[in-house]
Amino acid sequence: MYQYRRRLTREVTFGTIKLGGYQPIRVESMTNTHTMDTTATVVQCRRLYEAGCEIIRLTVPTEKDAENLRNIRNQLRSDGIDIPLVADIHFSARAALKAVEFVENIRINPGNYAARQKFSNTEYTDEEYFQELEHVQLEFLPLIEKARQNGVSMRIGTNHGSLSDRTVSRYGNSPEGMVEAALEFARICEDAGYNDILFSMKSSNVRVMIQAYRLLVEKADAELHYAYPLHLGVTEAGDGDEGRVKSAMGIGALLEDGLGDTIRVSLTEDPVHEVPVGFAIVKKYNDFHLVKGDKGHLPLKHVIESRNQLETRNISRDGSPPFNPFSYQRRVSRQFSIAGFEVGGDSTPKVETEVHTPLNEFDTALREALHRLAPEKPLDAIRSEFTSVRINTSEDLVLLDKFLLKLGDAGRHIVASTRDVSLVVALLDKVSKVRLDIIEGEQLGNDFLKNLDNDRPGVLEFCFMHENSGLSVPAEVLAYLGDKLRKQGVQRVMFSIDTTDTVFAYRKLAQTFNSQSLDYPFIIRFRGDTSDRLGCLISCSVQTGTLFCDGIGDMIALHTKLAEDDEVNLGFNILQGARTRMSKTEFISCPGCGRTYFDLEKATAAVKQQTSHLKGLKIGIMGCVVNGPGEMADADFGYVGAGKNRISLYVGRECVEENISEQDAVNRLIDLIKERGKWVEQV
Ligand code: SF4
Repeated sequence: MYQYRRRLTREVTFGTIKLGGYQPIRVESMTNTHTMDTTATVVQCRRLYEAGCEIIRLTVPTEKDAENLRNIRNQLRSDGIDIPLVADIHFSARAALKAVEFVENIRINPGNYAARQKFSNTEYTDEEYFQELEHVQLEFLPLIEKARQNGVSMRIGTNHGSLSDRTVSRYGNSPEGMVEAALEFARICEDAGYNDILFSMKSSNVRVMIQAYRLLVEKADAELHYAYPLHLGVTEAGDGDEGRVKSAMGIGALLEDGLGDTIRVSLTEDPVHEVPVGFAIVKKYNDFHLVKGDKGHLPLKHVIESRNQLETRNISRDGSPPFNPFSYQRRVSRQFSIAGFEVGGDSTPKVETEVHTPLNEFDTALREALHRLAPEKPLDAIRSEFTSVRINTSEDLVLLDKFLLKLGDAGRHIVASTRDVSLVVALLDKVSKVRLDIIEGEQLGNDFLKNLDNDRPGVLEFCFMHENSGLSVPAEVLAYLGDKLRKQGVQRVMFSIDTTDTVFAYRKLAQTFNSQSLDYPFIIRFRGDTSDRLGCLISCSVQTGTLFCDGIGDMIALHTKLAEDDEVNLGFNILQGARTRMSKTEFISCPGCGRTYFDLEKATAAVKQQTSHLKGLKIGIMGCVVNGPGEMADADFGYVGAGKNRISLYVGRECVEENISEQDAVNRLIDLIKERGKWVEQV
């Protein structure tokens, strides 16, 4: 919970490389060519290899595709490319049995391997359940045997939304179902003495994905003979920044937990784009691992035991974990209003940014503030709800008056930050929130605290500037202040930490506050100092998104070198990825593979262009009807490839228009959204 430790797993071989154990976290990708098209697939594999990709997966829908893996492999090997290949199998046990001859690893989906998957809500009696499981076992054992003979490892890859009817009947479409589906296959492997396995638990819903992996580790490590490696990924993450942010949040949250041995970032783009994103995500952990070595991973068991003592949505008691790792509950915090915006409680998390220009460069600072606040936009649009200016001296105080005057009504969204305790009271009378930076080792003085009450217009935020002390120090200092202010009856106070160890520091803060029943809201702050844009997106997403996915945080405040609009967008993308604030349409789009027979990237762009203003609506854009309808999970509408340049449209899980021409499909989708009353005109 509070310290990075990698879970030590069994090493599994992928041809010339290994993963798990002390190996670096590997970066994979997947081709989106047709596997029968040898030339196109070899060209794409070569491009992936040259981009540094360490493992390549290819889709294998039929036995013919499986047979063609021979040609692809031979061509690559004769070109001197010895990268491990993975065959991706859905449904066809026969394709699996053939493919295993030509690859280093085989991925099977327990949801559809020799099992019914009709999304029919069929009820299974115990007898029917075990009969089907026996049938699965009979179909699966020959594959295990052949994999063993060929020295091929296997990924048991569960996807949320493509569970078998058998599993759904008993566990629902839930993390529990995903885990049980994987364990059923793992038990068969272990009983057969085959241990070269790894797991994945993917979902397009970042929270579900994180919870499913944690639950798998909890259950698998308690039951199975080995700690098997994990392949991490967020499915159908989409494209562009949204896809990168969602992937970084899901994968990064688990890497922070010490979980994960190989990753794939799934983007609806050229798969070569996935590789640098993957390496940027794993860099921190691979660097740490190589320098510090590994001391193993604390089991999650103790977390479960103490979790059982908690009441749902109740404040945890002393020693309890700061959040439930297996299901989402937002940390309980008190709610109040800042400049007309509700903060804390059940209100949506708000976005704060900082004016980087000092106030004495008056006009530039003013332009920057206006750019960030965008007062011409509606209150709930993608814009910074608060932006802070730095106040260092009493001269700045005078400038602040002039600044607020110039901003007029927009001035109520200006907040201030200072290190000078003597300026705080004056600032609380001028702006809606004041952040006071607490420097380690400096005293605030009791008189200052005594003078705080509920009579000033502004809200006070205490921000601990954390540098070298352990994680307990900021949490204890802030809890001490919180307790004092609570005793004084001060209602409107917020707390934050400025640190590079954001995830662990805020977990400790939440645990300490919860243990003392302190319910003041938290602002999740993160400073992304790098000028590398991708690195910045990733570090911000991992360090803040992880916390929001676990229910910790009432406001997000990023300080980066990104352009103003970019930074504000990133804040909203993180909140949307964590599903704590839906500010635009949620697109669930798969990366496409050899089952895709239309231009998925183009279609995604066209759908996005026309529908991205439909706040809160979830639209799936999926490459094939074989897996698409299941894997778009909880999408409200679906645009799904049905054949060569043919599309089927879905409302929820129901196919309402089958096999229409690709040319008409986007317009029909929009008609459908209108017919179902979900359309709003763009402002
Ligand atoms: S949903 Fe997309 S990635 Fe998955 S099998 Fe179909 S086309 Fe391939």
